[in-house]
Amino acid sequence: MTEFVTNQRCRGRFAPSPTGPLHFGSLVAALGSYLDARRRGGEWLVRMEDLDRTREVGGSAALILHTLEGFGFRWDDEVLYQSRRTDAYDAAVDELTGARLAYPCGCSRKAIGKEAETGVEGPIYPGACRKRPADAGLTHSIRVLTDERVIKVSDAIQGPVKQNLAREIGDFVIRRADGFHAYQLAVVVDDAWQGITHIVRGADLLNSTPRQCYLQQRLGLPRPGYAHLPLAVDGRGRKLSKQHRDAPVDPGRPLDALLQALAFLHQPLPPERPANLDEFWQWSIAHWSLATIPVKPRVPVNP
Ligand code: GLU
Repeated sequence: MTEFVTNQRCRGRFAPSPTGPLHFGSLVAALGSYLDARRRGGEWLVRMEDLDRTREVGGSAALILHTLEGFGFRWDDEVLYQSRRTDAYDAAVDELTGARLAYPCGCSRKAIGKEAETGVEGPIYPGACRKRPADAGLTHSIRVLTDERVIKVSDAIQGPVKQNLAREIGDFVIRRADGFHAYQLAVVVDDAWQGITHIVRGADLLNSTPRQCYLQQRLGLPRPGYAHLPLAVDGRGRKLSKQHRDAPVDPGRPLDALLQALAFLHQPLPPERPANLDEFWQWSIAHWSLATIPVKPRVPVNP
């Protein structure tokens, strides 16, 4: 898929949310993004997506970083914490509202639920506040105005993705009524600010990608290449996640977990068990290929 082949110097990233210790699904995303960046001779950064303080589990940011380090991941700059980037997100919100591309919305979830049709990611906002002047006394969220243009993304693993945002998603929130900025906005601002050229992450975010490309267009930011890895799910098809308290990876056995993640991504395995982490990294960087990764959004795993 052409969009993933660029002549720019490559920069990848891993962007965990600190909602618990590193689990297998996140390790797959960390490994995929790391190997891809290193294979291209590029840099790799870590960004802590700690925007939503209500979901944060104390100590987990440090724990995730400690585990990554113990596994031999090396990042090329200081870790970026989204909780320290509020001004940059506010500037983006102001830019969009100033250009009348975003507007305040005072509708409650309940009110929206009554009227809205259901789209790929929940209720499609019917647009009641699009033309309503903002009520200064009311707490409100900010929504970005979507339109009928079809956003097309060529994913380097999952293939072409198309979305008509107005019909399938609706005007989406970029700043919540409680003041927290939405993931969709923050990720776009930070990917551009950090100069990320290649995004490799879990396929649960495939549906979010057109929204992010739309915001990039609206904010005049470059579009990176995208590659969505299959998501590790349990026997019932449920995403393995920190919130569901799925077993975290064992920080004491990095090689086992890394080899399991490599096998999950259908990468060639070393003929013999690597003697140490250095050997593991050498082998896996040299043999990394997107071509063999399963083109499936979900793959069961027995951690
Ligand atoms: N913070 C998201 C997660 O932990 C990842 C976001 C991204 O890679 O764009 O699932």
